[in-house]
Amino acid sequence: MPLEVRLDDLVRMELVDPFEAEHEDIKQIAKRLTKSGVVARFNNKYELFTLARRASGDCLYLDANTRRCTIYDKRPHTCRNHPKVGPRPGYCAFRAKDTP
Ligand code: SF4
Repeated sequence: MPLEVRLDDLVRMELVDPFEAEHEDIKQIAKRLTKSGVVARFNNKYELFTLARRASGDCLYLDANTRRCTIYDKRPHTCRNHPKVGPRPGYCAFRAKDTP
């Protein structure tokens, strides 16, 4: 599931400095994060960043062994608002269909 985040999420995730968020062109921020491999795509019209994923399709912040979110307290709004599954504190709410 592609994870779309906004600039305020990236600040909370400590991927973007608050000063940078306020003063830097958002396209430049997207360019930097794309180059560093954190962002896969940026939609300039809606100012939405799509985070990159692992080859497995997992979120970059999902611990492959424990299946816990490694940035749970700083996770994006999309994850906080995930409507159907969870929340178990510390765990990612998203589960693939074939995951028990
Ligand atoms: S809760 Fe954490 S691991 Fe799950 S999609 Fe969000 S950031 Fe990734």
